Amino acid sequence: MEAKMYAYKCTSCGKLHHPAYFVCRQCGQRQFEAIPLEGEATLLTYTRVYNLPEGYMKPWLAFGIVEFDNGLRVAGQIDCEDLAVGMRLKATVGVVKEGVGQDYYGFIFKKAE
Ligand SMILES: [Zn+2]
Repeated sequence: MEAKMYAYKCTSCGKLHHPAYFVCRQCGQRQFEAIPLEGEATLLTYTRVYNLPEGYMKPWLAFGIVEFDNGLRVAGQIDCEDLAVGMRLKATVGVVKEGVGQDYYGFIFKKAE
């Protein structure tokens, strides 16, 4: 099964949330519709991290904030060498390590074709 990340759309006002909230941040209502977050997004800002904890196989990793075309901003790992603010990235989902022995699914953005 392919892992997916979801945005949670308030069924009352339509505001998108990610990650999930119990209560809509805009109208306070509690019902959401899950919408897969996929496709392309624009890189807003990024940072490179060099002193990675144990468990990473790379000398550095890039993390950034991207904005999907639906306006939702999310944070994720970026798997791309020549980064530039404003570039288009493609959202993929993979295992992101955080801490020893802890794997979880998160966004990994790659350069859009
Ligand atoms: Zn709402």
